[in-house]
Amino acid sequence: MLGTMQDWPLLVTKIIDHAALNHPHRKVISRSVEGPIVETTYAAVHANAKRVTGRLLRDGIEVGDRVATLAWNTWRHLEVWYGISGAGAVCHTVNPRLFPEQIAWIINHAADRVMITDLTFLPLLEKLAPKLPTIERYVVLTDRAHMPETSLPNAIAYVDWIAYEDPATPWVSVDENTACGMCYTSGTTGNPKGVVYSHRSNVIHSLAAAQPDMLGLASRDTILPVVPMFHANGWSIAYTAPMVGATMVMPGPKMDGASIYELLTMCKVTVTAAVPTVWLMLLQYLESSGGKLPDLKRVVIGGSAAPRAMTKTFRDVYGSEVLHAWGMTEMSPLGTVCSMKPEVLMLDGEAWLDVKQATGHAPFTVEMKITGDDNVEKPRDGKTFGRLKVRGPAVAGTYFRGDGADAFDTEGWFDTGDVATIDANGYMRITDRSKDVIKSGGEWISSIDLENLAIGHPDVQEAAVIGIAHPKWDERPLLIVIAKPGRTPTRDSILNYMDGKIAKWWMPDDVAFVADIPHTATGKILKTELRQRFSSYRFPNLSD
Ligand code: AMP
Repeated sequence: MLGTMQDWPLLVTKIIDHAALNHPHRKVISRSVEGPIVETTYAAVHANAKRVTGRLLRDGIEVGDRVATLAWNTWRHLEVWYGISGAGAVCHTVNPRLFPEQIAWIINHAADRVMITDLTFLPLLEKLAPKLPTIERYVVLTDRAHMPETSLPNAIAYVDWIAYEDPATPWVSVDENTACGMCYTSGTTGNPKGVVYSHRSNVIHSLAAAQPDMLGLASRDTILPVVPMFHANGWSIAYTAPMVGATMVMPGPKMDGASIYELLTMCKVTVTAAVPTVWLMLLQYLESSGGKLPDLKRVVIGGSAAPRAMTKTFRDVYGSEVLHAWGMTEMSPLGTVCSMKPEVLMLDGEAWLDVKQATGHAPFTVEMKITGDDNVEKPRDGKTFGRLKVRGPAVAGTYFRGDGADAFDTEGWFDTGDVATIDANGYMRITDRSKDVIKSGGEWISSIDLENLAIGHPDVQEAAVIGIAHPKWDERPLLIVIAKPGRTPTRDSILNYMDGKIAKWWMPDDVAFVADIPHTATGKILKTELRQRFSSYRFPNLSD
């Protein structure tokens, strides 16, 4: 017997319909690429999204076609994000921080038909265009007054492109399992892989992400997603915020400490989200300027491990709670958020920070387990490390064009490539990428834990740990450090600081001081390159 309820398809366009109807005057405030701060509303975003749908249909875009964006977080990007899905097409957000050859490779792999971009990226695209045969037209997210001369084929200013379209254009009717968005992984090895989100997976994911134990987002909130819409489905905030009717603040192209601080205070932002490097810049700016964050309640930190010292500074100095989050492009992206369950609610001080360092617990819709290499499940005791596997309705089941099939098993589990522990309360703690974990004497050492600890030293700006070959132990940790400007920490001062805070055998065998640490296009430490740079390094206490 079937249930007798209505068949109401879970479509992302229903999210912006809902926002326009129920929160029509809620603001979307953006720093525009042209410079000024621009205010609009969900009702106006909805109207322009419908114009985008109308124009795409007139341009011959069909259900399933890919339309690329190479753009910052602004209200216009939000309009096309919904307008593309409304036409039944797939909004492919491309990460401009990738190398130009990778950008071209991704666009060709996706076979994007239209490219919607910001003024910032015209020089880049003018160079790439001859290598992008599938792109028929370039739409520049600006008005006629700011539209420059360009050699791009069929280039048009966005405002002109949608000028004569009907704001009541009906969305194209599609099944909820139809693709609506697409994002490539920022893999550090091999070619990037395409993850294709459906309307259904994005709606379910946004419902889960909004929950009190996750982002805890409400119409009373003002959220500033510093995380770009092109990083891992924009952490789904472009869906979750309008779904609950929260005010959105979009940073445009400026993500430095001063610019983010200006928006946080001017717009009285209550929730914000970004990778740790953004918060390092903000905290440095606050330290030098003496700024305060009276309205900011929650800071979502993910993409890489949130250092303990950062969580502590936000709590003790600025009165904001860090929500440490873990996720993946393949998971839409939220996998866990570290909010406090009743079992740990009474903790404070260092014990509270101990919990906060975990990457958190999963919402309904995310199933997690850890296994050995033999695929046998490991205990949830908070101590045993294992390969982290996940499944759920907003977790990828395959990659685009069948790439990377070995990451998925026959029971639907996706191997995240992360190594983690899970405790009895369901708190998961990422200890490493499986490729980065340091194997010493048959045991595993977490490079992330060591980095976290080292960054708490007052003279350390950034830290990375890699395994270096060792004749007796197989591998031993090398700590690589950037000193804070004007400071000169020594090897011994850092190792003494770490002493007693970790097991003796986890202690790095040496410290190397460097001027820079390489990062991926999504802000993660590029360990492959560090390993290359240190490939001829030998520990000083070893005889050859
Ligand atoms: P991406 O698809 O770019 O979001 O990258 C996903 C990967 O980033 C995960 O598989 C983890 O290795 C890493 N990651 C994300 N969040 C965290 C976190 N809070 N702590 C440690 N690693 C993280």
